[in-house]
Amino acid sequence: MCGIVAYTGKNAASRIILEGLKRLEYRGYDSAGLSIWNNNSLKTIKKTGRVDTLDREVKRTQVDGHLGIGHTRWATHGAVTENNAHPHVSSDGKFAIVHNGVIENYEQIKHFLEEKGYTFHSDTDTEALVNLIAYHYQKEPENNSSNGNRFFNSVRKSLNHVQGTYGIAVICSDHPEDLIGARHGSPLILGLGDNEHILASDVGALAMHAQNVVYLNDSEVVHITRNSFNIATITDESVEAIVQRVDWDIEESELGDYKHFMEKEIFEQPKALENAMRGRFSDDESTAKFGGLNITPQELRQVDRILFCGCGTAWHACLVAEYLIERFARIPVEVEYASEFRYRNAPLDKNTLVFVISQSGETIDTLAALRESKRKGFQTLAINNVVGSTIAREADGGIYQHAGPEIGVASTKAFTSQVMLCAMMALYLGRLRDMSFNDGVKFVKALKEAPKQVETVLKQSSHLQAIAKKYAKYEDFLFLGRQSMFPIALEGALKLKEISYIHAEGYPAAEMKHGPIALISPDCPSLFLAPQEEVFQKTLSNIQEVKARKGPIIAVTSEGSDFPRDLADDLIEIPSAHPAIQPILASIPVQLLSYYIAVERGCDVDKPRNLAKSVTVE
Ligand code: GLU
Repeated sequence: MCGIVAYTGKNAASRIILEGLKRLEYRGYDSAGLSIWNNNSLKTIKKTGRVDTLDREVKRTQVDGHLGIGHTRWATHGAVTENNAHPHVSSDGKFAIVHNGVIENYEQIKHFLEEKGYTFHSDTDTEALVNLIAYHYQKEPENNSSNGNRFFNSVRKSLNHVQGTYGIAVICSDHPEDLIGARHGSPLILGLGDNEHILASDVGALAMHAQNVVYLNDSEVVHITRNSFNIATITDESVEAIVQRVDWDIEESELGDYKHFMEKEIFEQPKALENAMRGRFSDDESTAKFGGLNITPQELRQVDRILFCGCGTAWHACLVAEYLIERFARIPVEVEYASEFRYRNAPLDKNTLVFVISQSGETIDTLAALRESKRKGFQTLAINNVVGSTIAREADGGIYQHAGPEIGVASTKAFTSQVMLCAMMALYLGRLRDMSFNDGVKFVKALKEAPKQVETVLKQSSHLQAIAKKYAKYEDFLFLGRQSMFPIALEGALKLKEISYIHAEGYPAAEMKHGPIALISPDCPSLFLAPQEEVFQKTLSNIQEVKARKGPIIAVTSEGSDFPRDLADDLIEIPSAHPAIQPILASIPVQLLSYYIAVERGCDVDKPRNLAKSVTVE
């Protein structure tokens, strides 16, 4: 959450910052702002709303210079106002800061500084930090001033007094050549350009200017000028920078002919699934193989239990993994919300493997769950989409999704690609245990068919659009399914809530009788996920129960199934497929339906209210 872009170099800082902020806007869009070193003073412009509004204001005021910091905010402390927008400036006017994260002890810091005469003008936690930097700057010896060390040390020392999380970029009017960045818990990447440096919270914001990057680690501070940089820890130990190349296809993050990124990403799913599978099957096509697990088959045979952790949509992918791995590999699986697990001190069996899933690889609760598991000595694996992300770097091993950038806040292609990798993991683990060669070959064949089958479902988009038109007026929805369709019901309800603001609940179809059935009425449609599988007849009975109470019914079933045609008001057919593929295929209609309903209701699909992508605050 929150986007940071900072720049020093030969180009116009405001252009580069605004261009980067536009690419990062999905990380927060409550307000946007920038500070630029302009005509020998720090000029700060902030606006509530979108980066475009800020852009217009920057053009109008013709602010420019070669050093600056910018931010798109996802408010944690303080309402969405211009005053609370970043950058925040210290009360002596010398420092400007942009911040991602939460300064948990900001009240103590503020109280301490108020007693020393510092004044505060916003409700944010961030303002406490910028004034703390100003305070430490006053205490630093002035002979440290010439090369920016005084500035660097004041930031570094301040961070030793901070509890919480931060990714920050700071500039100081006494040091018009210097830019300081630091991180703890929130991502920050330094892009190395030609006689220029860019600091950003996301590779996507700097990839067009820099192919070589340095990923900062927690508790590191970087001192940047146009042609040099130096990294130390906040306790002043020097750090050797590891320069890596980024592999980011800018075109992939452009909208192209689509109206929304969500629409584009829904239609990119066949390709994302192909990418998840590419090069990941054994030569005899009877099992999956993964390059970066860093765990031997012998070690995996010792695993008695797997714990999956994730948040939001990734947590739903974890639930699918539970069904698939237990069914095909016969290994007990538990699924936890990362945010609960990290503080629960759950006792785990000694032979437990911990698996975390996060599209961005920066989700703070998932990262914390990973760290907690590592601290306890468990072997950890991760599935994520962003190469070089913190989770990818810290897990013992992992699998990259290669789904391409996901910009729409509501996850679509990242979800199905995670499910694909979980299905492949079920196959891999199954083949290490009791799954036969023949069943493995059938499994691989079925996985390889998935992209084409997804294409078939996508071809029904106009049918789904028509259904969406009919149902867009409702304010309550139920999504119901059994077994591996239950997580897809949860995911369908989440998609609808996120982007169209319709109240929706996902439930196991049979559990409906224990509560949600009270909601059934002609005003509350139910979407049933009912492919032809073991529990098909049971699901049909649940549909009858809703029909008896006059609830409108949309049903998703398999082509050629025995679904009674008059049972549902609207029917969507998906190809009949191997059980490991059903969750992927069933996801497509619920994504399309939510998307078209949101469009029909005039919602801002890619930037739903109150949400942001890559949740880097707890
Ligand atoms: N806690 C800060 C604020 O509320 C930063 C939030 C963010 O990460 O955007 O302004």
